[in-house]
Amino acid sequence: MARKTVLVCDSCGKEVDESRGATLRITYADARRGAKQADLCDDCAGKMPGQPAARRGRRPKSAAAAA
Ligand SMILES: [Zn+2]
Repeated sequence: MARKTVLVCDSCGKEVDESRGATLRITYADARRGAKQADLCDDCAGKMPGQPAARRGRRPKSAAAAA
């Protein structure tokens, strides 16, 4: 029997439907600090700061300077 995972919004505590919601991932510039993430309901996700981001893939130009 598959266990159903109930997702709860890390911001408001509301249950998040499986087909909805979002994951907010924080990645520190200092890699030693690791990363953290939060599950959010649609409402809270919409209130978070940020901007539409491109899908994973290439990094912006600044990364090229690391050589
Ligand atoms: Zn919420």
